Amino acid sequence: MDGAFVQTAPLHAFQKRTESPVAFLDRDGVLNLGKAGYVNHPEEVQLLDGSAEVIAALRGQGYLICVVTNQSPMARGLWGPERLELLHTTLQELLLEQDPEAHIDAFLTCPHRYEDRCNCRKPSPAMLVLGHQLLRCQEALNPSLKPQLHAVPPPSVNWWGSKPIPPHPLDLMVGDRTSDMGAGWAFGARLFRVARTIGLAQVKERLSSPNDPGDDFQP
Ligand SMILES: [Mg+2]
Ligand SMILES: [Zn+2]
Repeated sequence: MDGAFVQTAPLHAFQKRTESPVAFLDRDGVLNLGKAGYVNHPEEVQLLDGSAEVIAALRGQGYLICVVTNQSPMARGLWGPERLELLHTTLQELLLEQDPEAHIDAFLTCPHRYEDRCNCRKPSPAMLVLGHQLLRCQEALNPSLKPQLHAVPPPSVNWWGSKPIPPHPLDLMVGDRTSDMGAGWAFGARLFRVARTIGLAQVKERLSSPNDPGDDFQP
């Protein structure tokens, strides 16, 4: 199993917008409640209050929405791509029930464990780079929530250097863990750390301001 799984929204017109900023969002602890031992079944997907509303607000500001998530239960053999599809279809449906504008443009998933030494697992920025390429650079993808494996670009990060310049100055990353902040930092994104029990709604006001530089972070 090499590369990251990519799923892009079939539920609305998938449109490449080269000039748009991207909001990269971690999944568990940001959009939905995380669970010790992973979110393994669709019925365990429980939205955090307000996450749909904040996604809709970001879309209203012109953001593309890209979920980037580490899901090692796949490499552990607990479940496979069919389950991933079911989990993300469920998450998208729940979001749309709460707010009809809460579309996700792409879900990117690293299926590996730390010890697999893959290129994609956060804090590698590789899934953010891939999301940037898929949503803003390459020819149109065939929209589908069916997980398709994509090779990720080899990450080139100087963790001791200064924070890179992102492709778009408003690009941002929201996460509940240091690995999320690391991936966002290495991509150059504005960083917004949230508590895992509150999630995206915690930074609702901040995300509405293009002048918020994001959290300080030193890898
Ligand atoms: Mg998380
Ligand atoms: Zn990986």
